[in-house]
Formats: sequence, structure tokens, C-alpha cells
Amino acid sequence: KAAAGEEAAYPRWVRINTLKSSLEEQLETTFRGYSRVSSIQDVVAKEGKHILIDTHVPNLVAITPGCDLSKSKAYTAGQIILQDKASCFPAYLLDPRSEDGDVIDACAAPGNKTTHLAAILHSHEPEFKSEPQTIFAFEKDSRRAMTLEKMVKIAGSNTMTRIALGQDFLQVDPESERFRNVGALLLDPSCSGSGIVGRDSMPELHLPVPPRQGPGRDLKSEATNKRKRRHDEAQDSSETVIRDDDGNETVIKSEKDLTERLDALAGFQQIILLHALRFPSARKVTYSTCSIHSQENEQVVMKALNSDIAKEQGWRILRRNEQVRGMKDWPVRGLVEACNGDKEVAQGCIRSYKDDGHGIMGFFVAAFVRDVAGQGEEE
Ligand code: SAM
Repeated sequence: KAAAGEEAAYPRWVRINTLKSSLEEQLETTFRGYSRVSSIQDVVAKEGKHILIDTHVPNLVAITPGCDLSKSKAYTAGQIILQDKASCFPAYLLDPRSEDGDVIDACAAPGNKTTHLAAILHSHEPEFKSEPQTIFAFEKDSRRAMTLEKMVKIAGSNTMTRIALGQDFLQVDPESERFRNVGALLLDPSCSGSGIVGRDSMPELHLPVPPRQGPGRDLKSEATNKRKRRHDEAQDSSETVIRDDDGNETVIKSEKDLTERLDALAGFQQIILLHALRFPSARKVTYSTCSIHSQENEQVVMKALNSDIAKEQGWRILRRNEQVRGMKDWPVRGLVEACNGDKEVAQGCIRSYKDDGHGIMGFFVAAFVRDVAGQGEEE
């Protein structure tokens, strides 16, 4: 079956869930009939079924658009996750380890990044762990929280890493005893969604429930369908659709509308980010959006870096040369002018654009870190 419209120019990205399977196993089973190619252009344009093993993100493949895996055994068993390459950047960049203690996924539904975090934690797990690690996954929207719960059930693994579900991240007290050991946080808040290509490969972005894939697809309601129609209509015209914090979509008709919405979203994103920087044991935080607007990206990062909390607590941007290999190698970086001319911060920021030939959606991610004096020393 051929992919339609804009999506035909993009491969379908598939993350192998290493909590349930391995790349080797999937190459021999689910992707047995696929021929290996070495460029995105070949995956997209060549006749037949093709597969490319990604060189930036481990356990990620790109396959010919239009190949429907939603009924495959691997998909229904949670062995593979349909997740755009860019959407894999935040958990990979955060790179949680056992020494980071517990982890928070602050804006979690439908849960692609939650299960990715769990898989990464597991891959680094030492043979003997003194204490089990917990991923606290927060989701404010109750309908989306149901999707998250389903996804965690299908693709997570409680025997390896505990995933605890919570509601509004902004309502929790960073100083609470429960979060004493939280060393890493992943923030993927609601945004304008201006980097989105099509709905199929990005279930997390516009629609509360994925239309054709994802464990929550049977939860479709009239309200969801209405939002979907509105989104489709706006995509066909020159209008832009903004999905706000509460899950509502707004059609933007003018520059002024857009500026106002972006300001409102950036305000909310800033609050989430500053809240995360307050967790006493936190050492790593990633901030990501599927927006291409610098108001939601570099500008939020710069404001956070200049905040009192960041200065008091010693937060800074994770420099490019400190990043995990695939992210260090990723060529598209932040906008220097939006970082007030700070080249080091801009290089630390990671971007993608949907029309730049990498076959992925428009995206932004940056990691904040802080070095703690005396860390690792004997007391
Ligand atoms: N990280 C998800 C993934 O990869 O599957 C996608 C997250 S989506 C871009 C943003 C989510 O944040 C939405 O589901 C939204 O309902 C949720 N959200 C917004 N404000 C929140 C808050 N204060 N606490 C928890 N979740 C929130």
C-alpha cells in the first residue's frame, strides 16, 4: 500500500523496543522480506520494501513508507514502536544511567519516550543494582493518560524498570520525599506542532489518540474525530493549527494570532522547564518540542539559563562534545541568533527540519546539566 500526500516522501520510522526484542531478532522476523539500503532517498524512492538501519539512534530503522505494521505480531506485542527518529532524540540525549537514580517523564502521553527511557535504563543496568529505579510518568489529560497506561502495559516491563503514573507535573512538589532520588527529567511539553509532517508517524503530537496506530486507537471518540477533521482541513490550507496545553486545537489565521499563541505556549513551556530545574537531586534535564519556532525552542532555553534558579543551582547546557555519539554527530544545530549569539549554546541545541532531506519531522531538543562539586568523591 503506498503512502499518500506529504507522508510518501518520508520513511516510516520504527524503534525496536529492546525491553521485548532486539534489532537482530526483528531483522530476521518482522523485516525478513526487506532489502537493506544505505540512504533515506533509497528507502523512500526504490520499488519494493526497503530498510535502513539508522546511524544516529541505536535500535532504530527506517522502512518504506506505506508499509503497514500495525497488525504485525511485533507491533501488537510491543516489540516495535512506530516513532519518528526525531522523537527518539530526547531519551537518547538524556541517556539515563543507574547512577542517575529515578527519572521523570513530565509530559508523557502517549508514552513513546517513557518506554524509550525504560529501554535505555535497562540497557545500562548493572548486574547487581542496589535499588530498583522508577520512571515517574506524568500526564495531565485523563484521556491521554489512558493511552499512556496502555502503552506502558504493552511496551514497558515492570520487572526491569518500574513505571509509576502521575497526573499534573506542575502540581508536584520537587522537594517531596518521593522524588528525593530523581536525577534526570525529560520534558516534552505541548507545543505548536509546527514540525509535524503527517499524522501517521507522529502519534504524540496533535491528536489525543493516534488515528491508525498506537495502543490507544480504539479510544477514538466523536470529539477526537472532530479535532482530526479540523486539523486535516487546516493542513490543506495555509492556516496553522496549534494544539494547546489542554489538548484543544486552535486554527491560526494571522501573524498576530500566531505570535500570541506562541507567546502563551512559550510561557507554559518556561514554567515546566523551571519547575524541573528545582528537583534537588536532578543533574540532567532535556527539553524538547516538535516546533520549528525559536520562541518555543532556543528562546525558552535562553530564558531558563538566565533564570535565578539556573544560576543559583549551576545549570548549563550540555555541550555538543559532551553528548552521546549519535547526537554529537547529528549535523543540524540550534540557531545562533536565537541564542543571543552564544555559539556554544547553539551547538548544544539539536534541531531538525522536515524538508532538509533527513526524512524526519521538525524538532528541537537541548539538555541542561549541572556539575556538582565533590560528586563521586568519598565523604
Ligand atoms: N512525550 C510524549 C511522547 O513522546 O509520547 C508526547 C508528549 S505531548 C507533546 C505533550 C503532553 O503533555 C500532552 O499529552 C499534554 O496533555 C501533556 N501535558 C501538558 N501539561 C502537562 C502537565 N502540567 N503535566 C503533565 N502533562 C502535561
